[in-house]
Amino acid sequence: MDTTSTLGQHYAQILGLEEPWVVTGVELDTDGQKLIIRVSTPKRTKLPCPECKKLCAKEDHREERTWRHLDTMQFETLIKCRIPRVNCGEHGILSADVPWSDSFSRFTLLFERFAIDVLLVARSIKSAKGLLRISWDQVHEFCGIAVIIIKHKSFLSLLRNKLAKFIKIEWS
Ligand SMILES: [Zn+2]
Repeated sequence: MDTTSTLGQHYAQILGLEEPWVVTGVELDTDGQKLIIRVSTPKRTKLPCPECKKLCAKEDHREERTWRHLDTMQFETLIKCRIPRVNCGEHGILSADVPWSDSFSRFTLLFERFAIDVLLVARSIKSAKGLLRISWDQVHEFCGIAVIIIKHKSFLSLLRNKLAKFIKIEWS
């Protein structure tokens, strides 16, 4: 077992990846303070159709996408992957589901959860933005997700109060 595969397995464990998903590379950009984790699936692996979950052969791959994950130490951590497309006899050619994120998000599920927790406990939306190192557009994205995910009324009213304060300060 060489160092690269051990490192790959280490990051796969941290990300909670299971077969057939594997870490194929880890790059450290010290100038940009970024850690890039590349994830892929082996060549002939079958993957579940996102509709019926039946195991299907891979057709091809989509262009590379990037997801922001929880930081590793002070390094912004990014997952990069070309999502495979599967060919299902019943549903046609579709992008496979990835275990770390929902279809349209640019963040991993763990980062989304963390960002929502930070938005709820931070003194202001502005300070949460600073802590998370995200843009205002992304703040809005997370507030939208929070409203969908968090059903509990007290959490919602807390978020509404914060949003009201934020809108008054930032947009008035
Ligand atoms: Zn299918």
